[in-house]
Amino acid sequence: MTRLSPRHPRYRSLRTRAHLGALARTGVVAPEGLIAHGRGEAFDYFLGERTTASARRAIRAAAVWLANADHPVVSVNGNVAALAAPAVARLQRARPGLSVEVNLFHRTPGRARRIATLLRSAGVLDVLGVVPNSRIPGLPSDRARVDRRGILVADVCLVPLEDGDRTEALRAMGKHVISIDLNPLSRTSETADLPIVDELTRALEGLAAELGRSRRRTVGEFPPFDARGALRAARRTMARRLTSVGARPPTAPRSARRPSAGTPRRSRRTP
Ligand code: ATP
Repeated sequence: MTRLSPRHPRYRSLRTRAHLGALARTGVVAPEGLIAHGRGEAFDYFLGERTTASARRAIRAAAVWLANADHPVVSVNGNVAALAAPAVARLQRARPGLSVEVNLFHRTPGRARRIATLLRSAGVLDVLGVVPNSRIPGLPSDRARVDRRGILVADVCLVPLEDGDRTEALRAMGKHVISIDLNPLSRTSETADLPIVDELTRALEGLAAELGRSRRRTVGEFPPFDARGALRAARRTMARRLTSVGARPPTAPRSARRPSAGTPRRSRRTP
């Protein structure tokens, strides 16, 4: 594997890519998952690679929904397991009773088992969905396959890095759907009851921290959330960053700063 220098300005991102690449070779991450990650990275650039005030509000609201749920479930795919298995374990510790269910677009029994092993080794208890025994009505393909003790009976579903069809199908079943997706334009973000537009690991850490704070729990109470407003705020942040960065004069790359042949070199002493 290529050695990465910690001094590289994008060291963290390169490390994450190398990690995902390695897990793609073991079959935990699907090749399509690598593409989805790239899409997410682009949106995180636009967002400024930080949790915005609006995302923080969404995280706080989501923590209340998860706390008040009768049966909350977090749905885990290959990318989520690869990027955030320890964060999923921390979330489960912060919200005892949270079910963790493997749900895959590109399912093979071996892949589901490998993802479950990764989750367990990070400390997740009782991983569901390895051998699904029920279906989400109205959804074709393997994405419909769920666990009778998990997503099928959940009242609140946390769906990180989900696709729009499934989010819609879960809502049609009457579930309260919380998404985590960096793309405020995705069908998932557009469809979820409570979209969190933030990077997966930041959002999960934020949720665990919020849930760790003691609060009164009222089962079945889900205070309304302004999903449209949250998406508008995320789009505004991205638009603002794109235009303000664009308004700054571009920094010339080092090589371009050297005077070219024929350009008279200015003396350092010239005022
Ligand atoms: P949709 O059906 O919702 O429109 P999609 O086709 O845009 O989905 P998918 O490829 O199904 O997207 O799912 C990946 C989504 O997850 C993308 O919207 C991407 O921005 C987002 N994403 C990828 N990596 C991360 C991450 N680390 N944190 C948060 N979101 C991410």
